[in-house]
Amino acid sequence: MSELIHVTCSHCMAKNRLPLEKTSQDPTCGKCKESILIASPLALNDQNFQRFIQNNDLPVIVDFWASWCGPCQMMAPVYEQVSGEMNSQARFAKVDTEQAQQVAAAYNIRSIPTIIIYKAGKEVARQAGAMDKTSLTNWVREQL
Ligand SMILES: [Zn+2]
Repeated sequence: MSELIHVTCSHCMAKNRLPLEKTSQDPTCGKCKESILIASPLALNDQNFQRFIQNNDLPVIVDFWASWCGPCQMMAPVYEQVSGEMNSQARFAKVDTEQAQQVAAAYNIRSIPTIIIYKAGKEVARQAGAMDKTSLTNWVREQL
C-alpha cells in the first residue's frame, strides 16, 4: 500500500489525492486534466493563499517579494531553478507583497525577500534575505 497524499492543482486549485510516488511522474489533475505540479513557482494572492498552503501534504515554500526589491530580482532565477528541480518534493509559490497585502500582513512580513516554509498550513521555518542556490536547496531539504 502506498501513502496517499493531497496536492492542490497549480491550474484550477482543485484538491487531488494521489499516491506519494506519483508526484515524480508529472501527475495530472482529475478536474482540469492539466499538470498538478508545475516547474515554475505558482503566484498566490489573498484569495487563494490559505487554500493552497492548507490543501497540500507536501511542504509549501513561499517567496514573499516585491517588484521594487533588488535582492528579490536577483534571487528570482535561483528560486525558479530550485522549484524546477524539487517540484515533486515540495510546492513552490510566490507572493507579491504589494498585491497580496492581507497575506503579507497576516504573516508579519517585515523585510523582503522572506521565504517561509509551511506544513499543513502552519509556518515551520522562515528565512529573511536572499539565498544562493545551495543554501536554498539545503534549507528546503531540511524540511522535507
Ligand atoms: Zn486542475
